[in-house]
Parts: sequence; structure tokens; C-alpha cells
Amino acid sequence: MRPTEDTYRHKGLRKKLVQGIQAKGITDERVLDAILEVPRHFFLDSAFDEAAYEDKAFPIGEGQTISQPYTVAYQSQLLELKPFEKVLEIGTGSAYQAVVLAEMGAQVYTIERQKKLFESNKSFPFLRKYHSIKFFYGDGYEGLPTYAPFEKIIITAAAPEIPQKLIQQLKPGGMMVIPLGSGEIQQMMRLTKLESGALKEEVFDHFSFVPMVGGKKG
Ligand code: SAH
Repeated sequence: MRPTEDTYRHKGLRKKLVQGIQAKGITDERVLDAILEVPRHFFLDSAFDEAAYEDKAFPIGEGQTISQPYTVAYQSQLLELKPFEKVLEIGTGSAYQAVVLAEMGAQVYTIERQKKLFESNKSFPFLRKYHSIKFFYGDGYEGLPTYAPFEKIIITAAAPEIPQKLIQQLKPGGMMVIPLGSGEIQQMMRLTKLESGALKEEVFDHFSFVPMVGGKKG
């Protein structure tokens, strides 16, 4: 069962979580405010109420995880979001990252390749108030050509290489934040599509994501 109550205790735990993330170097106030706002325990079974506010990744079924809050904050900060920007997310998972981006004012288009996870979000009442998030079941490698171009793209699974179709769906001047690498550890990269079409590459810290896998899983 998913919890539905957000108590003072939860809010207190969240405040501590935000202080921890800040201490690890996240400075963007809008990111910190969003993490403070979103009841992360709603995204986990009620048995894991306390664990929800530890700065850790957590299993969400189907061999997948809800990303560590610090990682969510890190990627969100790198996106340098402006209000109402169109953001494509690859790997909806628990939808926590999507909600954090929506709280920051983004128009979120998020794709999940696993039907069970996609369906579970459809029956998650808390998500209904987020009209600015659109959920898709599909292969993130294909992106969403119908809705392109996007100002920002965030990949929340380990990509063995830069997905070229997604670069095509990026607006000139737009940015992609992507954990790149095929091993256990990936390098967080930020790719900016210059007006010329060339890519500017910036390299950040190391992280460990579940792999980005091609094709859909029914
Ligand atoms: N953003 C998520 C993190 C989920 S983990 C959250 O906040 O909880 C990564 C997710 O990416 C998994 O759910 C996995 O099924 C999904 N995924 C992996 N490869 C994918 C692909 N090609 N297209 C769409 N989703 C993919």
C-alpha cells in the first residue's frame, strides 16, 4: 500500500534530507525547494516510510530503483531549468524525478519502457494533480518525435552511448543531462546543442544507474 498522509514528522525528515543534499553541494534553491515539497514516501510502499528520507536509491520492483535524492537533485540542477520549458525524461520509474521537475515549473514528457511501472503510475492518485506531466509507455531511445523539439532532455538510466535520435529532438541551445557508460559506474555529462548543431560536452561526477535498455517490456 502507498501512504497518503504527509505528517509533520515526514516534513521534518524531508527538511533534514534537504540539508544533507545541500551539504553535498547542491545550491539551486528551486531544486532544494522542490525536494522539500515532494513527499518522497508517497512513491514507496508504506513499509519504507522512514527509508524514503534516507539519501539512498531504493528498489521499486521490476528490478528498478527510485534514484537517490542527491542524484535527482544533481541532475535537476544541471538542467538549469527555466519555467515552462519542455523537458523529455527517459526512465519514468517511480515518477519521483518527473514530479520534482514539474514542481520546478517544467512541462514534463516522460517515457517508461516497462509496462508494469507505467501502469502503476496510472493508478497513483497523487500524480493526477500534475497536469504538466505527460506519461508515455515506449522505448526512450526513440524519444517522442511528435512532441519534439525539447529544451531539455534528462536520461535517468545508464546510457552506453549518446542516443542520436534524442539529440535530433533537442532544440538548438538545448541541453541533455545523461549518465554515460556501459559499466557499473557512469560519468554524468551535460551536452549542449549549439546553434551550429555541434555538441558542447561537459563532464561531471560519477554515478551508478540501472542500464538504459532498448525496446519495450510488456
Ligand atoms: N527517474 C526514475 C528513475 C528510475 S530507474 C525515478 O525517479 O524513479 C530507470 C528507469 O528507466 C527504469 O524504470 C527503467 O525501466 C527505465 N528505462 C530503462 N531503459 C529505458 C528505455 N530505453 N526507455 C524508457 N525507459 C527506460
